Amino acid sequence: MIRNLLAVYFLAQIFVSTSTFAQSCPGTLDLIFINGTILTMDADSSIVSSARVQGNKFVAVGNDIDISGNCAQVIDLEGRTVIPGLIDSHTHFIRTAQAPGPFILGQEASSTIAEYQQALRTASEKAAPGEWVVAVGGLTPLQFQEQRLPNTEELTAAVPGNPVWIQRGYLADGIVNELGRRILVQRGVPVSDDGISPAAEGGLRYILRTRTEERMLDRFRDYMNYAVSTGLTTVIDQGCCDFLGAELDIDDRPNFSVLDLLWRSDELKLRMRLQYDHRDILEQDDLRSVSARVLNSQIGIGDGFYRVVGVGERVIADEATDEEVFEAYLNVARAGWPLSQHTIWEDEIERYLSIMERVAAEIPIRELRWSLEHIFEITPNQIERLKAIGVSVRVQDHDILRNGSTGWNPGPPLKTLLESGIRMGAGTDSGVVGPLNPWLALYFMVTGKHMGGELIIPGEQISRLDALRLYTAENAWFLGEEDSLGSIETGKLADLVVLDRPFLEIAEDELRDVAPLLTLIDGKVAYATGAFSNLQSP
Ligand SMILES: [Zn+2]
Repeated sequence: MIRNLLAVYFLAQIFVSTSTFAQSCPGTLDLIFINGTILTMDADSSIVSSARVQGNKFVAVGNDIDISGNCAQVIDLEGRTVIPGLIDSHTHFIRTAQAPGPFILGQEASSTIAEYQQALRTASEKAAPGEWVVAVGGLTPLQFQEQRLPNTEELTAAVPGNPVWIQRGYLADGIVNELGRRILVQRGVPVSDDGISPAAEGGLRYILRTRTEERMLDRFRDYMNYAVSTGLTTVIDQGCCDFLGAELDIDDRPNFSVLDLLWRSDELKLRMRLQYDHRDILEQDDLRSVSARVLNSQIGIGDGFYRVVGVGERVIADEATDEEVFEAYLNVARAGWPLSQHTIWEDEIERYLSIMERVAAEIPIRELRWSLEHIFEITPNQIERLKAIGVSVRVQDHDILRNGSTGWNPGPPLKTLLESGIRMGAGTDSGVVGPLNPWLALYFMVTGKHMGGELIIPGEQISRLDALRLYTAENAWFLGEEDSLGSIETGKLADLVVLDRPFLEIAEDELRDVAPLLTLIDGKVAYATGAFSNLQSP
């Protein structure tokens, strides 16, 4: 009897205290991070020990911040490194998120065929009977100790019960398992005895048509979870939705429908920023199309998790004449929209740079945040001319996958660009031409090496702090959101990442292995593991 009374009494106490706590703590609890190595990426690159988050903003950042108050959760970082949320300013996130089949978690981190077989096996456990397990790009023979991709026997051994299709990259042949070979051959798609299906022979197009909305929603969610587990908090998608070489009809293209559904149901896990690519939208790659878009809609529409930020990486078909490109650029400039332009080779850079110079002679574009993308073969003269008209550049780590068939000179010249003072951002162009993992991109920029460890851009490597700044504060500028994102400063949105190792001290080669322990987006826990796995969103 006494015991029961005591139990009731204590229960009452807890109830009273939490409810008084809840009553005394209107709204969310503050998160106070102390004893950290916080790389703020502010203008002075200051490093501090503490930060306080209230709601979705940083309210204090420094070495001696106010940690008082009952309505707060104090988190001891025990010296761990904290960085601002990572921003990738050039991805094809939506396309990759909407690929067929279950998401293959572990693909980017696999370093042996056996590890990749396990990743495929795990993914196939989520597959419906007969559903394809598919990888379209984002992997390379260089990442595997065996220095090759798995063969058809290994794919069959990993996943005997579902058809499998993996493809090294854009327009590359597919490799299928035994079940996949049988299904495609039955449909008249050629597949060799060793499971190779030629790129343009319809295999991928057939598989893309098997996608269901339910599966795309599921894969999109899993891909977002993977992205935030790497420390990414914002991605710019530079061109929606379909796979080169698949030539799908308009009805077979999900375009933005899956993203819209996730946005409307408040399920976006990271900040999506959209650029409209006019190459990719059927029958809309001409002058009238991009003009209609920019002259009739507003830049910046959306909210903290989904916003339209520009056009590109192609505003008109590559086949357009210089006059058509000039007209399209003029209309974009008149409408005041940011624009990015895909460029690889020196002559291609020269073409679009010359057209931009003609536009700048008619309408100032310096404030419009235009950029050239990729720029592997850019020359010092072209860099100076871009600076003269206020056009910036965005670099990506394509050469982390560099192999014998790569069709451009090694690049981009990161150090030359940085020392020129041109405005620069960084990213991956993922998920077909390369992996999404930002730590692979940082590894490439700092070591200048590809996935196999060979030095690709000697003398053009940059420091880890410069590389981190490109992935944070500099990329925020390309969003037009440098006042709210990109650094850990009072008043900014609370996007931060706690790292599993000391970023400033580890060996350069170890940069590729960094794995966050906590990713906070908008003041909420988007990903947590290890010592932080019990941390709940306030
Ligand atoms: Zn791209």
